[in-house]
Amino acid sequence: MAKQDSTLHPRPGVAFLGMPAFTEAAHIALGDDQLRRNLGRATRTIRDKRTRAVGELEDWQDLRTAAAMIKDRTLADLDRHLEQFEAAATAAGATVHWAADADEAVRISTEIVRAHQGTDVIKVKSMATQEIGLNEAFAEDGINAWETDLAELIIQLGGDTPSHFLVPAIHRNREEIRQIFLDRMAEVGRPAPDDLTDEPRRLAEAARLHLREKFLTTSIGFSGANFAVAETGTLVVLESEGNGRMCLTLPDVLVSVVGIEKLLPTFADLEVFMQVLPRSSTAERMNPYTTMWTGVTEGDGPQELHIILLDNGRTRALADNTGRQALRCIRCSACLNVCPVYERVGGHAYGSVYPGPIGAILNPLLHGVSDEHDAALPFASSLCGACYEACPVKIDIPTVLIEQRAEVVEERADSGRPSAEALAMRIAAWTFADHRRLERAQKVASKAGPVVQHVRRLPGMLGGWTASRDLPPIPDESFHQWWERTRGADR
Ligand code: SF4
Repeated sequence: MAKQDSTLHPRPGVAFLGMPAFTEAAHIALGDDQLRRNLGRATRTIRDKRTRAVGELEDWQDLRTAAAMIKDRTLADLDRHLEQFEAAATAAGATVHWAADADEAVRISTEIVRAHQGTDVIKVKSMATQEIGLNEAFAEDGINAWETDLAELIIQLGGDTPSHFLVPAIHRNREEIRQIFLDRMAEVGRPAPDDLTDEPRRLAEAARLHLREKFLTTSIGFSGANFAVAETGTLVVLESEGNGRMCLTLPDVLVSVVGIEKLLPTFADLEVFMQVLPRSSTAERMNPYTTMWTGVTEGDGPQELHIILLDNGRTRALADNTGRQALRCIRCSACLNVCPVYERVGGHAYGSVYPGPIGAILNPLLHGVSDEHDAALPFASSLCGACYEACPVKIDIPTVLIEQRAEVVEERADSGRPSAEALAMRIAAWTFADHRRLERAQKVASKAGPVVQHVRRLPGMLGGWTASRDLPPIPDESFHQWWERTRGADR
């Protein structure tokens, strides 16, 4: 069987390798009509279904408040809940590892696979493993990581990157998927049938047969977790296809990479999240496949369980008084589906595994704003507030965005790279500080008036200002000159 091609996936980090910052990437995406059609149709459908599912619950707003409060309570006491989780999971037979960053999480994962002479692993969709670039690091080390979620399989075979939390291949249509299966499946396992059509039933069947072979021949599984319960040491995965259930129960060894913000204090807290997550994400009243496991059970399921608790910038986000609410996120994707910016540019323009409104705040929170990719993201929003209204854990994304914009401006000022606006303000402050300077500037402006009147576009950095505005006409004389001349008589 062919080895995985390590070039199939750009390496995620601060941004996907080789991707431009949002401003440029959005321009490119806007030129792709097919992408916009696919996105428009898909987000409209999900949005409408979600509105109906949420509308069925009279206490929806109360559930949102409860979910936000549970998350805030957990985050306020996160260190204690993490230690409680570690103790409970260890007592149940799991081995708990702590990873400060992506490199450490990858190193621990690789060591576990090597300890079992593994060459292949199967995976249930996990954003945490995408965040740390696990598949790419494994490929460099000669380990094949096989995605088993249908959309992730499409992304992996297509050498693509995900563009949505819930529907990672939202930018692909059925015909494109058929072609990817025909072109690539045979290289890495059971081929797609020659007579494959673009009917959803036939595409799903081809994926099921291809994946079944992987499930039955691979002894190491990797997962993330939607929730981790501190009092019991339980991990919880919600999924819709049953591939997760197979990944979590068939292998001998299971490794779960879990962001430290996934903690919930008690098992009873799940009651709230089992209502808000399915309705907000897939617009379902109840999640189709919910798998919960606590440590190891002799003779049933994986006999070795490793849990890697991942920080990778989360404690940095926790230290941000306004931004820490982003750690409430349960990755439901409701904010993506209502965002007018996301609907037009898609997920790739954000250059990260976390796209859309939550990605626009989460990436700068995890990494800071010194990198140009992260610094561009707080501006990827119209601040319309639709994301806040849709969010089941009430993350006030617009407020965080505004704070981050200020942070970006300060960062630029500190780095000695003033923006055009900051430069103009500095010149204005210097001119206004002395009345003689101001009078001289006014005389020069009056003399230049007839010429400037014809200027439609300013040069250099100032060009951004005139891109959407005309220069105002410059008066022949200043207020002072007019007053001196008339004393207000010709009012
Ligand atoms: S920010 Fe809110 S709406 Fe967006 S993915 Fe997270 S939980 Fe869902």
